[in-house]
Order: sequence, then C-alpha cells, then structure tokens
Amino acid sequence: MSGATLLKETGPREVFCGLTSIVWLHRRMPDAFFLVVGSRTCAHLIQSAAGVMIFAEPRFGTAILEERDLAGLADAHDELERVVQNLLKRRPEIRTLFLVGSCPSEVIKLDLSRVAEKLNIALQGSVRVVNYSGSGIETTFTQGEDGALKALVPLMPESQEEQLLLVGTLANAVEDRLITLFNRLGINNVKSFPPRNSIDLPAIGSKTKVLLTQPYLTDTARELNARGAEIIEAPFPLGVEGSSLWMEAAANAFNVKDILLDEILEPLILRAKAAIKPYREKLSGKKIFLLPESQLEIPLTRFLRNECGMIPIEVGTPYLNKEIMKAELDLLPSDIRIVEGQHVENQLDRVREQKPDLVVCGMGLANPLEAEGISTKWSIELVFSPIHGIDQAADLAELFARPLYRHDLLNNKQLSYA
Ligand code: SF4
Repeated sequence: MSGATLLKETGPREVFCGLTSIVWLHRRMPDAFFLVVGSRTCAHLIQSAAGVMIFAEPRFGTAILEERDLAGLADAHDELERVVQNLLKRRPEIRTLFLVGSCPSEVIKLDLSRVAEKLNIALQGSVRVVNYSGSGIETTFTQGEDGALKALVPLMPESQEEQLLLVGTLANAVEDRLITLFNRLGINNVKSFPPRNSIDLPAIGSKTKVLLTQPYLTDTARELNARGAEIIEAPFPLGVEGSSLWMEAAANAFNVKDILLDEILEPLILRAKAAIKPYREKLSGKKIFLLPESQLEIPLTRFLRNECGMIPIEVGTPYLNKEIMKAELDLLPSDIRIVEGQHVENQLDRVREQKPDLVVCGMGLANPLEAEGISTKWSIELVFSPIHGIDQAADLAELFARPLYRHDLLNNKQLSYA
C-alpha cells in the first residue's frame, strides 16, 4: 500500500449534487425517464446542465414540490403518484422510471421507495419504477450514478455463466473499443452495466467478474458483490498505465496468457506514449492542485504525475474508498497529499498560497480563480469526455494541456497590448 499522506477535512463544500448525473444517464438509457422530485432550483439545475429544450420531449423532468407540499398541507405521496400516472400515459415509450430524490424531498421525508412500490404494483411490470437520491446533502455529483445503478441491481436476473461485467457509464464508442480488445484477448462474454437500454439488464451470479470503469461506484460494487459477483482489483482505465493494468487484471482473472496480452497491448502502448509526448512537454514540471468533486481525482493524479510529469500539490477527493482505490494508491509515492472531504475556504487559501499552474475544480470556483490569474480545468468536463482506455490517453493529456496553452496565449496577448 502506498504511503501517500491521507488527510480528512470537513467544512463548507462546493460541489454539484447527484442530480447532475442524470445528464449522462438519460443519454445512456433512452428508454428510461428520470423524474426528479424536487424544487424549482432542482428543475433549473437539471434543465440548464442538460441543455435540452422542453419541446424536445426530454427523458427527464421535475415534479415540483410546492409550498403546500413542503408545509405538509397536501399528501405529496398521492400527488406524486398522480403525476407519474399522467406522465406514463403521455409517454408510453418509457420502460424504466427513476424517481430521483432531492434535498427538498429528503427534508420533508418523502418516502420515494413507498411510492415506487405502490406504482410497481399498479403498473404490473409494464414499467419498472425505482428510486434513488440525487440530493446535494452530503453527496457529490457522480454519486448520482452510483445511486441509480445500485437501485437497478435487485432487478438484474441471476446467471451462472462466466462473464466479464464492465460497470460504469462509458461513451458508447469507447466501450465498443474496449469490448473489441477484450474479445481479442479471448474474453468473449462481456456485458455492460448500465446497459444501453434499461430493460436489457445483464444477469449476474457467482461467475460474474466485475471490472469497474469508474471509481465512484462504491455502493453499486458492494451490491453486486452481495449478489455473488467478484470485483476485480485494478486501477482505473485512465492513461496508458491505468488502462494497461486494468486490462491485465481482467486478463489474469480469465487466465489469458501473458504473451497474448503483450501482443495486443504493446503496439497500443507505443502509439499512445508517442501521442502523449507533445502534451507531456507542456505539462511536465507544472504544479497541479485538484479540488474534490468528481471522485476521479486520484486516478487522474496518478496519470498526470506518472505519465505527464506533473507535480501534484494536493489531491482533494470527496470520498475515499480505500478498498476500491487500493490499486491506484499503490501507484502513488509517499509524498502525495490526499485530502478527503472539503473545507472550501481553507482549500482556496492553500491554492493561493501554493500558486499552482493548474487547478482542477468545479465550475463555481473556476471563474473566480481564473480572474486571479490561475488556470483551471472543470472537473465535470472529465466526466462528460471520452477519456477511458489506452487509445484515449493523449486526449486526456490534451484536456489538461489546453488551459495552459490558453493561459500562455492570453498572457502573450496582454504583453503585446502593454
Ligand atoms: S437536489 Fe439539492 S443541491 Fe441539487 S439542485 Fe436540488 S436543492 Fe439544489
């Protein structure tokens, strides 16, 4: 285990809430609908984050809790059931309905699981209704996906077939490429969770080997494990190192011969390293500070340090699951400072004191830092971008080099005006 310095911090936080993950989940499963049970603020967040016009019939919406509901003057459970029945009448193509809890629904203790249960009885299997919380109270935005997937695990059928299960949403093209590589290794039974259609849930059982594609799926991994699946210990498929070790871990779990693994990986590694080189030249020796938001911070630090030569000053992470993150921590040296949790004011003080070349942070903090002359990268962009796998390693490096190039350009421009 790495000797990385692990610290904890609590205090005011500055992160997106779990509702944000609906943006990528509704694209992944076009036959599902995400109904947020929340306030007008929740509706604005999801509407502006997804950038979809109302008339485009999006696959998400908000059942707005009015003052009467919040004051306990109406039976919000009954009203919600009515809203759902109307929605399903109007949108017969919906196969899975996610009832997504929010801060307001949690505060008034709306029991979404009870509503889901009643609706499932009434709908008799024509639509499956599940619930999870996307509330911003004590959660960060990627946990929305963890909650949604965890809610689906009990619906997955049983199977004793040997298979590799990739868990976590990936861009379809990236996922196709990774599956092709596994097939070339002789691992032919590869399934994905979440699936591309919500009703095509993969079956699981004791011969299912789970390979996590994202580091923020703690609860989902625990539930899959409770259903008998084995979780393969591996770093995450970001960069050449992480992606190769990730594939190697799967290859070992399926007894693939080393010689075949090397034959497939070596040309990919050579090509990716050459593609990273120009970005490494820009990034090497630059100081980076990661504020906690996406839970991708530790694998990104490993990539940026080990493959791009960056100097991580501090690595914030909203939560640290030492079990899931073990293989990542093993790849980091002892002088890395990892801070779990957040006291945003103290962290910003440390940013100003340390003067990093690049800060990875939420959108709300990026503009003020840019105004102070500090280059930033939005953490949410990393969740929306196709960055997984060896083939994407150079694109991942480019995402971090881009703000530095922009910073140089702006500075040169200012000099030429002076
Ligand atoms: S769930 Fe909470 S944090 Fe998220 S938009 Fe609604 S009120 Fe805001």
